[in-house]
Amino acid sequence: MNPQRIRRIRDMLREQKLDALLVTEPSNRRYISGFTGTSGLVVITPAAAWLLTDFRYVEQAGEQAPFFEVVEHQGEAVHTLKELLNKAGVRQLGFDQNHLVYGEYQRLQEALNPIRLVPTAEWVERLRYVKDPEEIRLIRKAVAIADQAFEHVLNILRPGIRECDVAAEIEYKMRRLGASGPAFDTIVASGPRSALPHGVASERVLQAGDMITLDFGARYQGYCSDLTRTVALGRVDDKLREIYRIVLEAQLKGLAEIRPGMTGREADAVVRSYISERGYGEAFGHGTGHAIGLDIHEAPSLSRRSESTLEKGMVLTVEPGIYLPGLGGVRIEDDVLLTETGLEVLTGAPKEFLVIE
Ligand code: ZN
Ligand code: ZN
Repeated sequence: MNPQRIRRIRDMLREQKLDALLVTEPSNRRYISGFTGTSGLVVITPAAAWLLTDFRYVEQAGEQAPFFEVVEHQGEAVHTLKELLNKAGVRQLGFDQNHLVYGEYQRLQEALNPIRLVPTAEWVERLRYVKDPEEIRLIRKAVAIADQAFEHVLNILRPGIRECDVAAEIEYKMRRLGASGPAFDTIVASGPRSALPHGVASERVLQAGDMITLDFGARYQGYCSDLTRTVALGRVDDKLREIYRIVLEAQLKGLAEIRPGMTGREADAVVRSYISERGYGEAFGHGTGHAIGLDIHEAPSLSRRSESTLEKGMVLTVEPGIYLPGLGGVRIEDDVLLTETGLEVLTGAPKEFLVIE
């Protein structure tokens, strides 16, 4: 755990003239404290850092969150919270407006009166944009697990098995390699279903002539990887071969040109313009990529709406796709680490057009 993260929150409290920040969202709570339990409140003041949790988690919290004072609450956490805040003289308590639902906000405000709840946005998320060396190490491991699962699954792809069998095989392999589970629902989209950008594995049986899109990732010690490869099962339609080539060229162009200093929108345009110029702009309906970390989809994104500036140390996906309804689709996705001058491709899985006979 890194005490620097607490210091950065304290800097923001000073700048925004708040007395404390309440963190409730699980990934943010984990990022700030190290605590992985499913129940707990993190509070940071200029002088204190508390982790409130119940008896089930007290021991775990003590081990995982060395820079926090663990406070066990009996009954409702809010009463203990109020005592602590009063003792510390807190009058303005920041909370994340994107993570507290309205009913909870009302209950909390009523119970904490006259302490005032003040909305803040994305304080912890912004700290999470740039990954530190330990986070990068864990992501590299998650990426390597996905790479190995891909290599493994190529041996079992054949006509007659179901998409869900393929997904099960991928997830089992990732667990055997040390993943705590998949980073998200594994996508196996074959034949016409490959035209669905988010075709979670169904009971469809693979057939010769299918394009098969496999999109999956591992979660390793909390950190996610995200890998997409599209392979052909036997001979596929020439149109599908053509879009494979275009998607691959667009993706390689993105890997060659995306670098720190660009906005997410500019990075997206590098890839999108290549596909549009070849007449498939309409068939590329999603963004070019997104950050990964403790969550599978983090900010910033590479998309037409992203004004965030890319920085060294961000870990992003680059994943163009072309989808032709009724026929099939292609997507190719790698994970990359932004460096001083460009990027390092973390993903190792091969991506030349692969025909499984
Ligand atoms: Zn993906
Ligand atoms: Zn992705």
